[in-house]
Amino acid sequence: MLKGSCCCGAVKFLVSSPPTMMGTCHCSRCRKVGASTFVFVKRSSFELISGSDSITTFKPEAPYKYNRCFCSHCGTALGEVTSTAESFPVAANCIDDALTITNLFHEFVKEKPSWYDICDSAKQFPEHPHQ
Ligand SMILES: [Zn+2]
Ligand SMILES: [Zn+2]
Repeated sequence: MLKGSCCCGAVKFLVSSPPTMMGTCHCSRCRKVGASTFVFVKRSSFELISGSDSITTFKPEAPYKYNRCFCSHCGTALGEVTSTAESFPVAANCIDDALTITNLFHEFVKEKPSWYDICDSAKQFPEHPHQ
């Protein structure tokens, strides 16, 4: 069981089975909201235990496909925690427990800022990965 929370503690959630994938997105949206590394969790394993009324959602324009949820008190980027999809991304920064998975890929590398060096050997994609 993994615990997750925002900076002020208003939003708290549990993830009951290990995240299936970790990825890092270098698009300008992820960069500006301050959450570039995310883990995918299954809807069935995700439980919001507090703060549903503190979550605000920002919907970016295409080609960026994921909505950005954040705590309306402290601004912590949460990922897409209000998604109804089978599997959705949660900001890795919000997970309070240690994670055993490591980064699988980098996406939107074409938008990566000049000051950020990719220091792992994970696959790189100019935009969303084509699978
Ligand atoms: Zn908060
Ligand atoms: Zn992104």
